[in-house]
Amino acid sequence: MKNATIALIAHDGKKDELVKFVEQNHSWFSKFNLVGTGTTGGRIAEKGIAIECLASGPLGGDAQIAARITEGNVHAIIFFRDPMGKHPHEPDINMLLRQCDVHNIPLATNMATAQLLTGNFAFAGE
Ligand code: PGA
Repeated sequence: MKNATIALIAHDGKKDELVKFVEQNHSWFSKFNLVGTGTTGGRIAEKGIAIECLASGPLGGDAQIAARITEGNVHAIIFFRDPMGKHPHEPDINMLLRQCDVHNIPLATNMATAQLLTGNFAFAGE
């Protein structure tokens, strides 16, 4: 059983970028349990990478991840947001971002920050 869980989410315009990033950094990601929103998680699973897939974002996947943060079961998030897109589930997204701040959870919303996270970040107990 791995110690920590990372949640992976990407809006449609950013999914290719996130899938490629996870593949390229597979040895780092393999140290953690992975969980993702439905479509993002499915795209990562297609690459042969183990990931638990929750509901799709617009159907409540972001809210599920926020609940797991609250329960202490998600320890970092990589969420490639598309700043040019409109999203019907914006209230869920804002709630997820707020829960990250409430619980002091590392949150990478773009590639530059994700690179910092994967390069320099160590979870307690790792
Ligand atoms: P998806 O959800 O991975 O199911 O597309 C992501 C989102 O839009 O929040």
